[in-house]
Amino acid sequence: MSCLFCKIISKEIPSKPVYEDDNILAFEDLNPQAPVHILIIPKKHISTSLDIKDEDNELIGQMFQAANKIAQDKGVAENGFRTVMNCNLDAGQTVFHIHLHLLAGRTMHWPPG
Ligand code: 5GP
Ligand code: ZN
Repeated sequence: MSCLFCKIISKEIPSKPVYEDDNILAFEDLNPQAPVHILIIPKKHISTSLDIKDEDNELIGQMFQAANKIAQDKGVAENGFRTVMNCNLDAGQTVFHIHLHLLAGRTMHWPPG
């Protein structure tokens, strides 16, 4: 398995986890773009959001529930946070195992770059 995030799940590559359950792992982004920058990933390998199947619908909901919990635990929920999932190259996807970016701790701009 050559997937970077599968290797993080198997602990072959170390990370700084902030949340884990049977289906989800969340860890600090290596190159944070905001004071809080967490990646929330399913333990199931799904390459891009285009590959999400009906059977994954509950899992995707669990990713957002994890983001909500982490935002609340880190005290950024009230001020606000951004969740982003990039799909394919134009959007800037560089790791092809879906991940929800949770960004918070500063004012975000719109439109994104
Ligand atoms: P993408 O560009 O695919 O939406 O997001 C990939 C993210 O993974 C980037 O924000 C990047 O900083 C992060 N990243 C890449 N390699 C590693 C790694 O080995 N460890 C961690 N914790 N984050 C990584
Ligand atoms: Zn993977």
